[in-house]
Amino acid sequence: MFAFLLAATLSVQQPMTVAVDARDARRGVFHSAVTMPAVPGPMRFVYPKWIPGEHAPSGPIAQMMGLRVTAAGQTLTWRRDPVDMFAFDVDVPKGATSIEVDFDYISPPVGYASGYGETPNHTQHLLDLPWNHVVVYPAGPRTDAIQVNATVALPDGWKSDTQLPPGPTSLTTLIDSPLIAGEHERTIDLTNNVKLSIVADSEAALALPQERIAQLTQLAHQAEALFGAHHFRTYRWLVTLSDVVETQGLEHHESSDNRFVEHAFTDPDLAKLALGTLSHEFTHSWNGKYRRPAGLATPDYQQPMLGELLWVYEGMTRYLGDFVLVSRSGLRSPELVRDHVAFVAANLDRNRTGRNWRPLSDTAVAVQVLAEAPFGWTAYRRTLDYYDESLLVWLDVDTTIRAKTKGAKTFDDFTHAFFGPPSTPPMVKPYTFDDVVAALNSVAPNDWATFLRDRVYKITPHPPLGALEAAGWRLVYSDKSNDYMIPRSKSSKRVDATFSIGILFHDDGKIDDLTPGTPAAAAGLTPGMEVTSINGRKWSADVLREELAAKRPLDVIAGFGEHVATYHIDYRGGEQFPHLERIEGRPDVLSEIMRAR
Ligand SMILES: [Zn+2]
Repeated sequence: MFAFLLAATLSVQQPMTVAVDARDARRGVFHSAVTMPAVPGPMRFVYPKWIPGEHAPSGPIAQMMGLRVTAAGQTLTWRRDPVDMFAFDVDVPKGATSIEVDFDYISPPVGYASGYGETPNHTQHLLDLPWNHVVVYPAGPRTDAIQVNATVALPDGWKSDTQLPPGPTSLTTLIDSPLIAGEHERTIDLTNNVKLSIVADSEAALALPQERIAQLTQLAHQAEALFGAHHFRTYRWLVTLSDVVETQGLEHHESSDNRFVEHAFTDPDLAKLALGTLSHEFTHSWNGKYRRPAGLATPDYQQPMLGELLWVYEGMTRYLGDFVLVSRSGLRSPELVRDHVAFVAANLDRNRTGRNWRPLSDTAVAVQVLAEAPFGWTAYRRTLDYYDESLLVWLDVDTTIRAKTKGAKTFDDFTHAFFGPPSTPPMVKPYTFDDVVAALNSVAPNDWATFLRDRVYKITPHPPLGALEAAGWRLVYSDKSNDYMIPRSKSSKRVDATFSIGILFHDDGKIDDLTPGTPAAAAGLTPGMEVTSINGRKWSADVLREELAAKRPLDVIAGFGEHVATYHIDYRGGEQFPHLERIEGRPDVLSEIMRAR
C-alpha cells in the first residue's frame, strides 16, 4: 500500500508523457509510448474504462495490442487483474524512476460492430484521436492531479486541430480534448470564441454553404443568450466527414467529436440532422460538462458511473439543444422542428409497449446495458428513452413555469440560474435531483419533486402529451409524410412504417423492428425476418408505399433464410405519419419558445 501511495505522490509532481505515433493511421495503427514516474516495488497502471459522455465501461480494451513494459533498460513482466480487465500490475525494479508502457491502439475495421470504441477512427485521408484510446495511467490519484505532456506524429502533409492547450495539462483535460487530422482540412471562425474545424475524405465535402456557416454563428449567439454565460475559453466543433467513420457525437467541455457521413454538410437533407447534432453537443458544454450529475462526476476513468440523472444530462440537452436552440438559430425550419417533436411524441406513444413495465428512469439507470442491446424488440425493451421522452418532460416543465407565473418566468430563467453567470473556464459543478428541484423552485414555486417523479420514476402508459397541448398543439396522424422522418430514414437506410402496419424496415426489406400489438405483429411477423414480396410484387420501399396507399390488405412473403411463408397483414389505413396541429383558441406557446432571442 505504501508503494502505491508514494507512486501517487510522485505522479502528481512529475508529468507523465504520452507520445503517439499516428504516422501509420491510414492502416488504423496508432502506436503509443507512455512514460510514468515510478518507484521500486509493486505498481498498478490502468487503461481508461468508464468514458465521460459514453456513460458506460466502453474503453476499447480489446483494441489494445502489443503491450510491453520496460524500466531501467529491463523488460518487465505484466499481469492483468483477473477481475478488472483494465488493470495491470508490474514490479518496478530497484534503481528505476519511471516505467515506459508501449502498445498499439488498433482502430477497428469498418462493418463489424457499432458504438463507441468499436468503429473505425481512421480512413486513408483522416483520423480522429480520442486520447483515452492511447493512454494508460497510474491507478490511485485523481486524474485532475496527474500532469501529462502529450505529443502526436501525423502522416506527412496532414493538418490537425484540437482544443488541447500547449504544455503539460491534467490527464482530465487531455482526455477531454480530442484531436482530428487529415489531408482535407478547413477551419472556420464563427465568432470570437467559437470555431468549426472539419477534416473530410474529400475536398468536395468541405464546401459548406455560406448559409450553414451563418446558421452556426447564430447558434453560438443564441446559446449565449439562452444561458447568459459560457464555461469555455474557446469552443471548437471538431468534425470528421467520412462514410467509413460511424456517425456519432461525443461532448467535451471546450470541443466535441462529431462524426458524420462524407456529404453531411453538402447534402441539404443530411445537413438538417448533422446541424442538430452540433447544437446538441454544444449544449453539453453547459449541461453535462459544466453542470453534471454527481454520479457521473467521477474522480478517474475506472470508477463506475451512475446514469440515473441522464434524463437531466441528456434529456434536457434534447430539449435545449435539439429543440430550443435549433429553432432559435434557424438551423431547422419551424415546420421541421414541429415534425421532429411530433415524431418523438408519436414514437414514444405508439412504439413503446415497454413503458407498461419499465419507468423512464430505468432507461437511464440501465444505460450501460441498453447501449449494448441488440436492435429489434425496441418497443418492448425500450431503449435510451431518457433522451427523447425528456424533450416532452422539459417542455412540460417550461409550459408549467409559464402557466404558474402567468408568463412572467420561463425555462430561460432556469437555464440562467442553473448554467449561467459568471462565465468561467472549464470546471465541474455536480448536482443532485434535489439541486434541480431547488433551482426550479427559485424560478417558480411548485411541488417539482412530485412533478418530476410522476413523469420520470413511475410507470406511465403514455408520454406527457399534455405538454404539447399546454403549448397550443396536439399530436395527429395523416398520410402526409413527416419532414423529420425523411432525412432520418435516408441517414439510417430504413423505411419507417411503424405508424401504419407497425414495421421498421431496413431498405433491403429486412424487418429491423416491429411493434407488438400492430397489424404486422398480428400477422405473425417478427424482427429479423426478411420480406421479399408484397402483394405479388418484389420488395422495395416504393412498392411498400404504393401498396399501403392503395388501402388494401398486404400479403407478404417473408421468413428467415431459405424458409419463407405468406403472411396476411389485415390493414387498410394507408400510410400514417405524425404531425402537430394547432389547437384553435389556445396561445401558441410552442412558437414563442422557438422564437430567436
Ligand atoms: Zn448527448
